[in-house]
Amino acid sequence: MRFETIAVHAGRELEINENEPITPPIILSTVFERAQDASYKHNLSYTRDTNPNRHWVESALAALEGGAKAAAFASGSAATHAVLQALEPGDHVIATSGYYGTTKLLKQIMKPWGIDATVMDTSDLAQLEKAITKKTRLMWIETPSNPMIKITDIAAVAKLAHAAGAKLVVDNTTATSVFQRCFDLGADLVMHSTTKYLSGHSDVLGGAIISKEDDAFFGRIHVLQETGGAVPSPFDCYLLHRGIKTLALRVRQQAANALALTTYLSQHPKVERALYPGLPSHSGHDIAARQMKGGFGGLFSFQVKGGAAEALKVAAGMRLIRRATSLGGVDTTLEHRASVEPPNYGTPENLLRVSTGIEHIDDLREDFEQALQGI
Ligand code: PLP
Repeated sequence: MRFETIAVHAGRELEINENEPITPPIILSTVFERAQDASYKHNLSYTRDTNPNRHWVESALAALEGGAKAAAFASGSAATHAVLQALEPGDHVIATSGYYGTTKLLKQIMKPWGIDATVMDTSDLAQLEKAITKKTRLMWIETPSNPMIKITDIAAVAKLAHAAGAKLVVDNTTATSVFQRCFDLGADLVMHSTTKYLSGHSDVLGGAIISKEDDAFFGRIHVLQETGGAVPSPFDCYLLHRGIKTLALRVRQQAANALALTTYLSQHPKVERALYPGLPSHSGHDIAARQMKGGFGGLFSFQVKGGAAEALKVAAGMRLIRRATSLGGVDTTLEHRASVEPPNYGTPENLLRVSTGIEHIDDLREDFEQALQGI
């Protein structure tokens, strides 16, 4: 089956009702009855271990990504945390300097637990190779990265990771599995903040880890999921599963809007530069064109001419586009990232990050034009 068909049909094999409804029901019960012989039907016992909605969405996530197993979490950050906790004290991680929360988890939480991390620009393969130590057990890459939209060569990093005896995890949140097939490129695990494109409507917090193999490392992540208990509710799983069905349609529109907007912005007299891998001028365009198929995602950043004041004025001048954090919803949103990241994180003060929605491109372009005219 093709991606679009899997998205609609995957995750229905646990038949709990005699007459299967086409849309899965939300099963809120936290407990499931044992049979008289003390066995559990479908292995359902207690909702922290699993529940029908989580089971359905996890099997859909694994099928969509082309992996063996998936574990759903209460947030993308909880999913990241579980992978890092599955390491041993003394292990070393190399990670993309991308989404700030991942850096914060590594530096503020995992470091005191004995995990050493090098957070860097992983698009620079020569520097990445130099950062490998005898203790490197995990490489964590985010491509395109948030918010600087840097591209890391997944296949090249997979080779370096495997030669060093390390696993490769790709945070595929911004690219989505529609455009970027990480397992085909050599990744061992894929992470998503399902809060973003997979749910798609800015009304669910969630995360997922998908493993290419049902191996011992995924087994540890699974234990951390059900014993640590940072799991999504049945209602959140239901919403996520519903979002998955329209993922491909939404992200193609979002990517088309992002390409059209960055093409317009990169020629605008009040814009210093637009950062989007779909633009031939982007430093990572050739790699992105090789490893992303059918589109370059719906996330981009642009730098206005001037500093923080000009960028904030453009944001304030938007009439249709909303000023909000996060990404991947159907509404186009924009954020001044330097205001929400620590002062030394390095995101330029004149940068605005945009998550394109599915609105008509002319309405979006007109809103940018009138807001840019204000500076
Ligand atoms: N990874 C990326 C690329 C993100 O953009 C985010 C959130 O913005 C996360 C991970 C964390 O996800 P969550 O907010 O669901 O914890």
